[in-house]
Amino acid sequence: MTTTVGVEPKFRPRREIVGGTSPEYVRISAASAMALSFRSGRFSRDFAFGGINLLLNYEDGCRSDCSYCGLARTRPGSYEDKSFIRVEWPLIETDVLVDRMAEKAETLTRLCISMVTSPFAYRDTLEITKRIRRKVTTPLSILVAPPTLNRTKLEGFAEAGVDMIGIGLDAVTEELFSKHRTDVPAGGAGLSWDKYWSVVRDSREIFGPWKVNCHTVVGLGETDEDLLEIFWRLAWMEVFAYLFCFNPEPDSRLGEAPKSTIRRWRRIQLAKRLVEEHGYSRGDFDFDASGALIGIRGARVAVEDVVDEGIAFMTNGCPGESGEPGCTRPYGSYRPSEQFRDFPFMPDVVDLAAIRGELDLGQLITEE
Ligand code: SF4
Repeated sequence: MTTTVGVEPKFRPRREIVGGTSPEYVRISAASAMALSFRSGRFSRDFAFGGINLLLNYEDGCRSDCSYCGLARTRPGSYEDKSFIRVEWPLIETDVLVDRMAEKAETLTRLCISMVTSPFAYRDTLEITKRIRRKVTTPLSILVAPPTLNRTKLEGFAEAGVDMIGIGLDAVTEELFSKHRTDVPAGGAGLSWDKYWSVVRDSREIFGPWKVNCHTVVGLGETDEDLLEIFWRLAWMEVFAYLFCFNPEPDSRLGEAPKSTIRRWRRIQLAKRLVEEHGYSRGDFDFDASGALIGIRGARVAVEDVVDEGIAFMTNGCPGESGEPGCTRPYGSYRPSEQFRDFPFMPDVVDLAAIRGELDLGQLITEE
């Protein structure tokens, strides 16, 4: 079995900005900074990359305190120095960024502004959206902060030219959501499961079918059955489920927690594809008493065809204008030195051979 291992991207900062808050400044992911030539560097593999991720920036950061998040209030360090999904987010002037995006518009597939929990987040996200829309037509998503929103504000995003809404649900059961996101040791802005779902429903009504997504994380204590239940629930609502792998942020409350095994992760990726694209229902899966997936009832050749197709293992993200992969977040779920957990490109034959070994389908498929 061959394993593909990445290397750390080499960054040579061109222009460091140490202050500045939104809307005049935003942070962008390191991969976005490379794609827009604000930073030099290279990915471990060659692939086209056009998904640009922006993040609001405030002196007092995000007011939430999620146990697994690099931006959490109680994680040590200044907000400026904190990482988010384990990657650096350099700060840049918004107008400079918009001009650069306009220059490189032909290479861009999807733009996304990530809000944080702040009283100014809606106002500033709307302002940045308008500045982008005056010069750039690339499809634009907002990864929203539900505590800052209501239905009227979501309508404001639609009117300003946003076409997709992402909701970072992350924890897939109410109990886990409460444990990781509501019961915060620092007090303050604990989050509400009900509020998140009301924003999902309002967004679905305003933006339409398959124009809303929920981020779901593997590795926060949920069972395989919990994950499949949320995939069915969201598919029924015509809302995308996008899969992320918990990746411990150093010094966060879950900084020492293990990430899911590669075998579990690959099996969840496969099961999700079977549910969403091949109509597998509850009766097609077997779980043990602890909710772990122990059987897929189907023709082995059909399941292996889904593996060989490769799409199940690509990064889930908002699409580009013609449905092509748009937001591919390289290194969002794994370190650059690790095997790709999700692939920002179609896995090749060598990758697929590795994936088959990691899946270890063996007895998992029980032919019907
Ligand atoms: S998938 Fe990417 S573009 Fe879509 S909401 Fe999530 S971070 Fe934003």
